[in-house]
Amino acid sequence: MSALYGTYARTDVAFARGEGMRLFSTEGDAYLDFMAGIGVTALGHSDPEVAGALKAQAEKLWHVSNVFKIPEAEKLAERLVAETFADSVFFTNSGAEAVECAIKTARHHHFANGHPERTEIIAFTGSFHGRTLGTIAAGGNPAYLEGFGEPLAGFVHFKPGDLKAVAEKIGPNTAAILIEPVQGEGGVTAMSDSFLRGLRKLCDDHGALLILDEVQCGYGRTGKFFAHEWAGITPDIMAVAKAIANGFPMGACLATAEVAKSMVPGTHGSTYGGNPMACAVASVVLDKVLAPGFIEHVEEMGKKLNRHMQQMMQKYPHYVTEVRGRGLIAGMKITPPVRDFVARLRDNKLLTVAASDNVLRFLPPLIVTEAEIDEAFAIISTTFDELAAEQTGEA
Ligand SMILES: *Cc1c(COP(=O)(O)O)cnc(C)c1O
Repeated sequence: MSALYGTYARTDVAFARGEGMRLFSTEGDAYLDFMAGIGVTALGHSDPEVAGALKAQAEKLWHVSNVFKIPEAEKLAERLVAETFADSVFFTNSGAEAVECAIKTARHHHFANGHPERTEIIAFTGSFHGRTLGTIAAGGNPAYLEGFGEPLAGFVHFKPGDLKAVAEKIGPNTAAILIEPVQGEGGVTAMSDSFLRGLRKLCDDHGALLILDEVQCGYGRTGKFFAHEWAGITPDIMAVAKAIANGFPMGACLATAEVAKSMVPGTHGSTYGGNPMACAVASVVLDKVLAPGFIEHVEEMGKKLNRHMQQMMQKYPHYVTEVRGRGLIAGMKITPPVRDFVARLRDNKLLTVAASDNVLRFLPPLIVTEAEIDEAFAIISTTFDELAAEQTGEA
């Protein structure tokens, strides 16, 4: 029996170390990593520059309170502001906290402008925003809400893509629309550019704010620094995390000056958020993600991965029914139970992750090469063949 909470259906594999695209188990087996700790280790494992930054900072200063100025955080925030729509940043320790900050910022903005009634948040079915009491209400997944008492009030959910339903609902009580430009957990569903533009316009027309949850799809993963760039729109508030510090726990809530200005002393806080260790790591991650050619590489590898998925759908039409995603957040809707198939791939030394709607999700480190994509799909093909052989044997 484990002394840990039983909150995860853990697989009986443990890793001793990682290097680039590979993870090495305690048994000594090498695995090709196409999940990156669920979209976190974008620069792969044991990147020497990232590790070096952490080590150098660890020998200088770990933590001070946010009652003091933290130059590392100031500098990182300035850089994020320079590269995005945002004017102001709040650092957190996780994605859920970044979404919580986004929700609080939106509601408080209206409160401070004399509209305390504007608390409603329009969100979408199939979304995932985290596991805190606030973010399970935001996600609206009944399975995640059940047994935890009254959900946080003020959230309504519509089907992604249903602009008409949103248009009918949005009104004088709406604080914000909250959406993932590409739903991760929910089945790797990319929102259309026109839907995102439609939401932006509805917000503008009704004085509501647009909050984007780019915790999983942001930071280069779709082939743009942030996924909303594809639609040519900007949000008012955005939640970021996962890849931001390549696995050192960190998140960020970014906002425009107009929206952030109501978040005055006393409205929000975090003990660890933006501490020198996290900022030192995130600063190097940002250097690398914004280095010339890095995001272009992601776009190119995304196309390559998409071609492979299309080929799988042609070769195994009874197993692969749909191809989804954008860039290196991608997935195939398959007919075999996805959790079993993920286990079979793992037995064949390829790590992937399941998403809802029976989708096999790929979130490789963004440093993935063509050869590694070829290798992954050779394993996937072999695994489908093994499954077919078994099923023929049974018949
Ligand atoms: C993972 C994720 C979160 C939650 O992040 P945590 O760090 O687990 O709190 C929120 N939103 C999206 C889109 C995510 O993928």
